[in-house]
Amino acid sequence: MHESQARKQLIEIGKLCYQRHLLVAMDGNLSVRLSSGHILCTKAGCHKGFLTDNDLVVIDENGRQLRGSGRPTSEMAMHIACYRARPDIRAVVHAHPPISIAFTIANVSMARCVLPEVVLTLGVVPTLEYETTGTDALASKVGDAILNHDAILMDRHGAVCVGKDLLEAFCRLETMEHTALITKTARDLGMVKELDPQEAIKLRSIGLKRYGGPPQSVAKADEPCADLPPVCTGCTGCSNPNPSGIGPKKELRFARMSDQQPVADAVLSRLEDSLVQAALKALQK
Ligand SMILES: [Zn+2]
Repeated sequence: MHESQARKQLIEIGKLCYQRHLLVAMDGNLSVRLSSGHILCTKAGCHKGFLTDNDLVVIDENGRQLRGSGRPTSEMAMHIACYRARPDIRAVVHAHPPISIAFTIANVSMARCVLPEVVLTLGVVPTLEYETTGTDALASKVGDAILNHDAILMDRHGAVCVGKDLLEAFCRLETMEHTALITKTARDLGMVKELDPQEAIKLRSIGLKRYGGPPQSVAKADEPCADLPPVCTGCTGCSNPNPSGIGPKKELRFARMSDQQPVADAVLSRLEDSLVQAALKALQK
């Protein structure tokens, strides 16, 4: 794609992100890898809903500014980490989708198999442990995770979605937020039924072959669990474990990249115990 085309598309997709409430004010940043290997990206401190050509800068693959006024954002390190990890991608969109971020703050994982279409195209969406924005530590975590995922969430921060072009990266971001809205609505209604694990694996395997994905994941398409994490294969669906009727199993609620949530687990099991006690008392009355 010519740089002039990439510039137009970047401005368009920035506007769409704003119109679809996927970011506000100066949030987020978008980039495209040009055929020269250089990266066209949004500069620091510009509103993505009102982008103009002057808001775009060109940097090299190490982040050094080549063209454009204004400076590239410190979050560009995340974009560079994605391009280094994935030679197959040409676009990165980082935004702050509100419902998806609320899932990370509420400590509810989106690494779950709920909607067949999403399992086909995205697999599960992992949440990375909290890191300070703009740091190398965050960029390195993002680079590691993007090896196996096209869409990820960062705790208390936002989403990073990648694709062969900006439209594909944007679609993945939109799908993530739409899934968050559907899952949140189901939770509000009382429960979330997970897909049967065998069906989820079947769908994921078909999806990786039909629609592609991270090369490392595509290579796993015929493995017993495809590229799904082990926690998904042990999923027994919503078991309605407590009187409030909001599933799924405790382990799945906190299914994260690290699988290390001892404090949150302890709080949760205490909460569930007290809910059970309250329900028993109410029944005895
Ligand atoms: Zn950000």
